[in-house]
Amino acid sequence: MAYITLKNINKIYPNGFHAVHDFNLEAERGEFIVFVGPSGCGKSTTLRMIAGLEDISKGEFLIDGQLANNWGPREREVAMVFQSYALYPNMTVYDNLAFGLSLQGVDEDVIDERVRKTAKILGLTDYLDRMPRALSGGQRQRVAVGRSIIRKVGIFLMDEPLSNLDAKQRVTMRSEITQIHRETGATTIYVTHDQTEAMTMADRIVVMKNGYVQQIGTPKDVYFNPRNMFVAGFIGEPPMNFIRRKVENGCITVAGHAFDLGKKLGDKVKDYEGKEIVFGFRPEGIVLGEKENAYIAEGTVELTEMLGDNANVYVDIDSDKSILKVTPHEIPEMDSQVTFSIPYESVYLFDAVTEMVI
Ligand code: ATP
Repeated sequence: MAYITLKNINKIYPNGFHAVHDFNLEAERGEFIVFVGPSGCGKSTTLRMIAGLEDISKGEFLIDGQLANNWGPREREVAMVFQSYALYPNMTVYDNLAFGLSLQGVDEDVIDERVRKTAKILGLTDYLDRMPRALSGGQRQRVAVGRSIIRKVGIFLMDEPLSNLDAKQRVTMRSEITQIHRETGATTIYVTHDQTEAMTMADRIVVMKNGYVQQIGTPKDVYFNPRNMFVAGFIGEPPMNFIRRKVENGCITVAGHAFDLGKKLGDKVKDYEGKEIVFGFRPEGIVLGEKENAYIAEGTVELTEMLGDNANVYVDIDSDKSILKVTPHEIPEMDSQVTFSIPYESVYLFDAVTEMVI
């Protein structure tokens, strides 16, 4: 049975704003779930409802099969790490870690053992006597995480815990949090607007937009089988390229080439005759030159970005801007024409009206 269940959860704020619509999710014990989506899509609101910090306006929230809508945060056995973590500035790292347990009246010996174990997991052993002001941002964040994991909880909630760190620290903490999750085994819900964090850390990703869940799936699922244009454009970096065209005689015309959509859609292409369709392909889904079993197109190179192991090439295809990912040895000249192939299996077609994948 799922450990946490959200059934048609809604949040309507007192001012009448409907921030979350019919959110459904079943998280297994020990699962690492990431809520991802642009600012304001309802990630934090949903997390706060799970934490018991925000009332659930409508719907059912269950923990281990029991209705928990009205349970307080303590009964839910949750720990939460926020974006703006506040450590106690006048306490050492040791005391910061120990404080919550002391309040609960836990024995000194047990506290000491847990503080040392937590510090070890987080690489803070050498800093236990330091004050927070004498720590780097990353170390402070680790203490904040430590304060949460030191209590043995069933549910671990994190709201953008890495957003105050620099790019390098974020990468390090990303793998540390994954490691901590493995060691503690707590069911974890992690909120971020960063699709890379979501892809690298999650067992399953919940993609949200405007208060609605767009798709729930493993990182592979949401990358390879996006349900709609929003998910296709949000997951993947650089984002998927989209070309909007009218279907005529089963084809769309791109850079003077007729793309026979029957190759992809079979008989279904008839349903789109005379209508607009969105042709999607990922920057990394292309091959330079002309290949078999692929749509072939050309574009003018407007900009190239050398990234080290690969390069982004910005091309103009009949005024549509697209990005192609190539190896560093394939970078074309500025203003030159590049011919590239989009293998049929790398193409995604979307209904231009519903924006759903076809
Ligand atoms: P971010 O990444 O910026 O934190 P988010 O996805 O976590 O965004 P939420 O903080 O959940 O988004 O907010 C969802 C929506 O609810 C936003 O439009 C926000 O303005 C609105 N909202 C949040 N708190 C309240 C409130 N107390 N009263 C009314 N509306 C609110």
